Amino acid sequence: MSTKKLPFNKQQIEKIIKKYPTPFHIYDEKRIRENAKRFYQAFSWAPNFKNYFAVKACPNPYILKILKKEGMGTDCSSLPELMMAETVGILGENIMFSSNDTPQKEFKKAKSLGAIINLDDITHIEMLESLDTPDIICFRYNPGPLRKSGVNTIIGKPEEAKYGMTKNQLFEGYKIMKAKGVKRFGLHTMVVSNELDIKALAETAAMLFDLTVEVYEKLGIKLEFVNLGGGIGIPYKVEQEEVNLEKLAKRVKKLYEQKIVKNHLDPLKIFYECGRMITGPFGYLVTTTIHEKHTYKDYIGVDACMANLMRPGMYGAYHHETILGKEKSPKNHTYDVVGSLCENNDKFAVDRELPKIEIGDIIVIHDTGAHGYAMGFNYNGKLRSAELLLKVDGTVEMIRRAETVDDYFATLNF
Ligand SMILES: *Cc1c(COP(=O)(O)O)cnc(C)c1O
Repeated sequence: MSTKKLPFNKQQIEKIIKKYPTPFHIYDEKRIRENAKRFYQAFSWAPNFKNYFAVKACPNPYILKILKKEGMGTDCSSLPELMMAETVGILGENIMFSSNDTPQKEFKKAKSLGAIINLDDITHIEMLESLDTPDIICFRYNPGPLRKSGVNTIIGKPEEAKYGMTKNQLFEGYKIMKAKGVKRFGLHTMVVSNELDIKALAETAAMLFDLTVEVYEKLGIKLEFVNLGGGIGIPYKVEQEEVNLEKLAKRVKKLYEQKIVKNHLDPLKIFYECGRMITGPFGYLVTTTIHEKHTYKDYIGVDACMANLMRPGMYGAYHHETILGKEKSPKNHTYDVVGSLCENNDKFAVDRELPKIEIGDIIVIHDTGAHGYAMGFNYNGKLRSAELLLKVDGTVEMIRRAETVDDYFATLNF
């Protein structure tokens, strides 16, 4: 019934905890690799298919190294993200620099690494002026009210999103860069986030393929690639189904044939810059119950808090929880599972039906492999946890230590 698979059992976790105390995030290398292979296999029909992993989802060099081996590049949008890609040897056009409101020095760094620069706004063209004209340039498109299907709940209405340029600006941008001597062009958009509906996901491809044709007809520019953005969703809830990547790829292929091949605009490379679906389901926040409290509601207090996983507090996001060793126990208690922040939205679960929980019980919070650790913060003097890697051979390596009080004080001058 309502279960989610875990790559470890209670005994194994207890052994890990002896060495690395809770809370920590742990990532399952084996399934990250399997999933990456599946993604690439599904799109193997597409010329030079590549996913540029959105570094912000899980900014850890060990993870980037694994993904590099699986053929991925990185999607960066800040100086440290560029530096991290550089550190693991992801360079040149294996970096997509999809930033916005970008400081000049970040363009400079991206350019020096040979990254593909994806411009968020037409005025950013001026910011490139002081750098050599790039070989290749990409523009981020915002369809605004032109997008046909429904509104995505995380991103909202495109016309209210700060990202990307209008259609007129887009065409103007290509014209300007063509006049500057640029010969290679890409097109990007991202209008969905955590989207599970294949139709909505494929619509991005349809929209960009149509634009590819229009850009060719109006400007004589044959685009080299389309970047369909990130946003492929994951089933946080047990009753949700994962995106069938084979079906998605098939649908995109059909559109490619209808719109690109038919107009002799192939080969057109297809890129994604997914983060969530690459690591999200394969990470877990492991935490220990340290208190129970019974007032107007029944609370379970754990040793992790919102600083380790902000999504529930920030978006009211659902993250499934497993009480280790009680997987088969009846869920006959209703709890709020909370952290220690002096902030009432520091709750990993609200009114959740769970087995009876006792102090010392280990709780696994699922699907924290993307936008989990990464969104951590130090509010209320809370420290970020360690990150562990469960390797293919079953051993565990600490890939980031937990913060200490010294880290917290390190930036203070007193
Ligand atoms: C956040 C982000 C992504 C990754 O989104 P996911 O939902 O993790 O797939 C990709 N591209 C850009 C520009 C982003 O801001």
